[in-house]
Amino acid sequence: DETERSIAGQKLNQIAAFASVNACRRRQILAYFGERLEAANCGACDVCAGETEQIDATTDARILMSAVARTGQRFGAMHVVEVVTGANTQKIRRFRHDRLKTYGAGAERDKQYWRRIVDDLLGQECMVRTEGEYPVLKLTPRGKDVLYGREEFHVLRQPSKRRRRARPADAVIEYDHALFEELRAVRRQLAADRNVPPFVVFSDRTLHEMAAHFPTTPDKMRNITGVGDKKLQQYAGDFLPVVDAYVRD
Ligand SMILES: [Zn+2]
Repeated sequence: DETERSIAGQKLNQIAAFASVNACRRRQILAYFGERLEAANCGACDVCAGETEQIDATTDARILMSAVARTGQRFGAMHVVEVVTGANTQKIRRFRHDRLKTYGAGAERDKQYWRRIVDDLLGQECMVRTEGEYPVLKLTPRGKDVLYGREEFHVLRQPSKRRRRARPADAVIEYDHALFEELRAVRRQLAADRNVPPFVVFSDRTLHEMAAHFPTTPDKMRNITGVGDKKLQQYAGDFLPVVDAYVRD
């Protein structure tokens, strides 16, 4: 019947989203079968092992979740995406959502891009989709942490068919690959110990910079992109000795 077909359709969409969502693969597959993996880091899949390339999408996540919040957490993904992209629909006019601050805030990206952000926010448990005939998006505590600037949000770099010129922020930097591998091993261990995904410890960008600038003191490490006071305090003791030993060799 209609309900079963719509559930089947949702499940298919979920499967399609698996590969692109930046969350533990095992956790996603279990969630698909209605089960829950308590650990946030299974330690074995490519995402948990830190083998994927991460892109900071915190700003876009905030734009989308801000639209969810400002529309009262009472609308589905399609409508929220139309608000963010500044679409001119009857529904938007009826609810006066074209007067919201986030209306059209993401107009420079297409709807497909924002649907992916929605999938990632769901997969990373920043939002939930309610059950029933008219599913709506709601924010979770983690979603609010990202929205209010307490947490970052990363997505996986998607394989692109056409090579685009890298923007300066994404520009590839020259770095020492052997040191990078050592730093990555430290990150993998810390992430497993703390039961968090590796990018929560440090992004690839941060490790690349460390493997390029060889920081051996807290001051030098503080100058690396992505190293704030809190992370310096948390991780300097784990990473600095590795760099120091590497430089001495
Ligand atoms: Zn995993």
